[in-house]
Amino acid sequence: MTRKLLIMATNNEHKLKEVRQILDYKDILIKGLEEMGCYDDIPETADTLEGNALLKARYMYSHYGVDCFADDTGLEVEALDGQPGVFTARFGQMNGYGNSHDADANMQCLLDKLKGKENRKARFRTVIALVCEGKEYIFEGIVEGEILTEKSGQEGFGYDPIFSPEGKGISFAEMSAEEKNQISHRGRAVEKLIAWLKKEYIYK
Ligand code: IMP
Repeated sequence: MTRKLLIMATNNEHKLKEVRQILDYKDILIKGLEEMGCYDDIPETADTLEGNALLKARYMYSHYGVDCFADDTGLEVEALDGQPGVFTARFGQMNGYGNSHDADANMQCLLDKLKGKENRKARFRTVIALVCEGKEYIFEGIVEGEILTEKSGQEGFGYDPIFSPEGKGISFAEMSAEEKNQISHRGRAVEKLIAWLKKEYIYK
């Protein structure tokens, strides 16, 4: 059987590695954008996670003619009416705390916004959009938890030091990558994608 080719619309090696690890790699070849020779600035201008994930996957399908999936993640904080959501990567910058994608600025901004608030419930939500043989599919992964009052731990990235998943009593940044992947928003969305691929794509 020839291996099927599927593009993941990312240049993030960490994300590519994670997906390849979970998938039965001999039957499917996952390539990132660079491996496709794609250095385009793919638009992420939608106002929802679903919208942005679809924009990226549709872009690759229509410009390169290949089946493709893309992910988008947001942190949704209950006391902030679901913010920062689709603006999670730019939250600090939007509020005058530094540059886009600056994890320390993002975390400080969120800690300040929640100062004095009792309700610290939050969830990470990942949406994966797949455009496959012309059809579109959405897979979602959620992890519920809360925002801590200060940073804790050195592992991971982004908001990990201030996010504690429900029932664990520690932050994501205090977990190993394996431990986090098992319960994380992205891990759960990827598991759903892979279950679908195995059933409907690779062995159909
Ligand atoms: P992206 O959609 O994966 O680029 O993520 C959007 C924003 O959410 C970035 O600011 C990331 O740092 C943050 N983020 C995504 N996933 C995680 C995670 O697992 N832990 C902490 N922050 C994350």
